[in-house]
Amino acid sequence: MQLSERVGRLTNEGAFEVLAAATCLEQDGRHIVHLELGQPDFPTPPHIVEAGVRALRDGHVKYAPPAGIPALRAAIAEHLRRRGDATTAGNVVVTPGGKSAIYSTMLALIEEGTEVLIPDLAFSAYEAITHFAGGTSRLYHLDPARGFRPSVEELEARCTARTRVLVLNAPHNPTGGTLDQTDLEGIADFAERHDLVVVSDEIYAGLQFDGQFQSLHSLPGMAERTAIVDGFSKSYAMTGWRLGYAVLPRRLVDPVVRLATNSFSCTATFVQHAGVAALTGSQQCVTDTRAEYAARTQLAADALNRIAGVSCVSPGGAFYVFPDVRALIPESGRSSVRLAYDLLHDYGVACLSGTAFGTAGEGYLRISCANSRANITLGVERIQQQAAALSAAAA
Ligand code: PLP
Repeated sequence: MQLSERVGRLTNEGAFEVLAAATCLEQDGRHIVHLELGQPDFPTPPHIVEAGVRALRDGHVKYAPPAGIPALRAAIAEHLRRRGDATTAGNVVVTPGGKSAIYSTMLALIEEGTEVLIPDLAFSAYEAITHFAGGTSRLYHLDPARGFRPSVEELEARCTARTRVLVLNAPHNPTGGTLDQTDLEGIADFAERHDLVVVSDEIYAGLQFDGQFQSLHSLPGMAERTAIVDGFSKSYAMTGWRLGYAVLPRRLVDPVVRLATNSFSCTATFVQHAGVAALTGSQQCVTDTRAEYAARTQLAADALNRIAGVSCVSPGGAFYVFPDVRALIPESGRSSVRLAYDLLHDYGVACLSGTAFGTAGEGYLRISCANSRANITLGVERIQQQAAALSAAAA
């Protein structure tokens, strides 16, 4: 069987690989603290489950329009307008998950030779899809000293005449970094000067801890060049429902709908009805989980900062912490992959090496706080034991 060269360019996702290894250890009777997956540990709020079940009972089990059911497209547009983004239902394409929105949008924009600005520390799908589509990634650095925010100088340095697309993600996976008004204005000006389309991954928008998320899309002139990709997985604890969407400049809507038509036809119809309930019902569930993630990430960052050789920035959103563990890694060829491997196998903590998100992640770990405060505390205690053993060995 001859496989396409193109499919060989697709990578796997680190979190699923670590989960598989951790599950094997559990089957052998080991106790593992799971801090690897970006999956909310809360159940989907009951009113959303009810709406999905009701839709099934009411017979919403047939094909839907490829762009999504009108009620959900309207609810998504209204959700954006409430936070200050002028858009219409006609700009919305519903997809089976945020990842599918990223995939379809990037495929519609990237071809052989297209250069794409991607953060060096990012969700792995952006680079995988860029390469799959024949494009080239131009990686831009995020400065830990500035809370992992990108600088316009850095973007300028990486941008060439062939650069067409800029990928942004805030609140950011894996660091929890956010963007302020000054960052957004600088990036908007940069995107306009270089005539770039911005793919803005806003899947953690509802989980920005100050509750003040602002999209690049809302800045003057930016709606025409910003493709928002988002979904229900994180804010509404709906990872397994597979529900996401893109909010697109008009010219992109038709191409993305054609990609949808030719790949998944439509998003599960009853799931879309659950999505309407999520957006039109009480948002208290989002407020409550946001507050809990803020408390948990602060708990984790404080505990990690008490470990000699570890330093951790407090995130502004999402549910991850990204501690700097460089001091725990001796010169002699160890790496953060090895550190994470030993943490899992010797100490029973599943987390990710920072390098699962790019080369700039060397010397960092990504810890997901989508687990109870008790388990986060236990996991960090085990990290502390590893750190103590490493410094004893070094001495
Ligand atoms: N974007 C980012 C930054 C993510 O971290 C994730 C999931 O981890 C996604 C998109 C995809 O989410 P989903 O496909 O479950 O909606």
